[in-house]
Amino acid sequence: MLRRIYTVLVVAMLIACTTSPLGNPQLQLFPDEQVAQMGASAYQQIKEKTPEADSGEVNSYVRCVADAITDELESDTGWEVTVFEDEAVNAFALPGGKIGVYTGLLEVAENQAQLAAVIGHEVAHVLAEHGNARMSAALATQAGLTLAQIFAASSGDSRAQLFGILGLGAQYGILMPYGRSQETEADLLGLDLMASAGFDPREAVDLWRNMAQAGGQQPPEFLSTHPSHDTRIQNLTERMPDALELYEQAQAQGETPDCG
Ligand SMILES: [Zn+2]
Repeated sequence: MLRRIYTVLVVAMLIACTTSPLGNPQLQLFPDEQVAQMGASAYQQIKEKTPEADSGEVNSYVRCVADAITDELESDTGWEVTVFEDEAVNAFALPGGKIGVYTGLLEVAENQAQLAAVIGHEVAHVLAEHGNARMSAALATQAGLTLAQIFAASSGDSRAQLFGILGLGAQYGILMPYGRSQETEADLLGLDLMASAGFDPREAVDLWRNMAQAGGQQPPEFLSTHPSHDTRIQNLTERMPDALELYEQAQAQGETPDCG
């Protein structure tokens, strides 16, 4: 029985080992649909707990920037954008097409391009399926015991049941902090995204500087799980020539967002 369990797990992991957009190997154990459902459900929970900003001006500003970014995606399935009235310097994007921006971020992201840098970074996490990879890695670590228990208790359509049961346990995982290499990947892909949408990518460097300054004694939540300031600036600077090319192409195509 145990051998069978491990065979199933190993096969699942072989099938599920994919490569991230910038070439890092990553596990993708969860079906896309389920990940999207987890994202939607986590979003719902956050919305129930956090008041939304009621300023029409603020809402349309954030939506304008977010739309410009998501318009660049191949499969733009209509992203939901919510501005939360909260002093946290933070933002997030979730699988299933969900974006959240906290009003505290707007104190630090000084213009539309800086806001685009943050939203681009967060959307890049979703595009690269970092949530799935993170949950899969956690699952693989714990799998021996958990899977043995599940399989011992079940017969029948084990695969569907497996994902169903694990999905419940991994519900919180969709909001787990990302790893360092995932953060770097999101920075670089996010830079490409904002530039392709017609936002000046050089503002990304200023944004991260502002973030670091806003930190003070207690770093913003958004920064606390992210790479060191110097590494981040260096990575962005190395990629800047390519990003500037994308930016110029976007401008030539008339992509000049004016969100105010
Ligand atoms: Zn990140």
